[in-house]
Amino acid sequence: MSTPELRRRLKAYWAEHDRVKALRRQILEAAEADAEARFEFFCDHGYAPPLILPTEPEFPPECVDMICGGKGRRSGEPCQNKALYPNGRCKWHGGASTGPKTAEGKAKSVYNLPRPKVMGA
Ligand SMILES: [Zn+2]
Repeated sequence: MSTPELRRRLKAYWAEHDRVKALRRQILEAAEADAEARFEFFCDHGYAPPLILPTEPEFPPECVDMICGGKGRRSGEPCQNKALYPNGRCKWHGGASTGPKTAEGKAKSVYNLPRPKVMGA
């Protein structure tokens, strides 16, 4: 299988993984908030109402032992690092930051720009 296709599968896996994780957390928090009703159900029925959690996706087997493959700047050889981020690249080849995304982050970056010093204030 081609490397871009593998990388796409890895990204899709992590996107699905994050989605399921958020969903599971949401269900567990709802159950926690509803603890009293669940306890009453337990007292009435003798067992806790089942929590149906979505199953986490399986790691794509073809992505096991995947290498980064970024170009080494000194050797010119593909990077052999196997510790990959969800984008399919290692910590050295993940690409530059594309800057703040949220309004809060943008405001913070503007705040951190150099300012003229105010003398005697
Ligand atoms: Zn790399």
